[in-house]
Amino acid sequence: MEKLISCCGLNCAACEARIATLNDDQALREATAEKWRTEYNAPGITADMINCTGCRAAGVKIGHWHECKIQLCATEKGYTTCGECADLETCEIVAFVHKVAPEALENLKGLN
Ligand code: SF4
Repeated sequence: MEKLISCCGLNCAACEARIATLNDDQALREATAEKWRTEYNAPGITADMINCTGCRAAGVKIGHWHECKIQLCATEKGYTTCGECADLETCEIVAFVHKVAPEALENLKGLN
């Protein structure tokens, strides 16, 4: 599968929210909301919130994207992703993502 790397390094192409959005797949939206409620301990997530084309792709964004400190920081610095940043491996803003998803850091390193 082709990769679509977000600012933090996650692969949006593999994200259920993007797949559900592109295919207008309501069953996948429901399943993703249920999974994320548990995985992220976020009981307020509903299927209606599962609409996103990807962090750096044109189109609709999932709610928290607009306030994501990672994409806001990278955008402010003029970077496409954190992979362009000299502080990548010491940055406290993006560290929590790479702690739970180390492949995201590898994805960013792979862009250079
Ligand atoms: S400071 Fe952190 S969040 Fe900002 S662009 Fe660099 S690595 Fe990304």
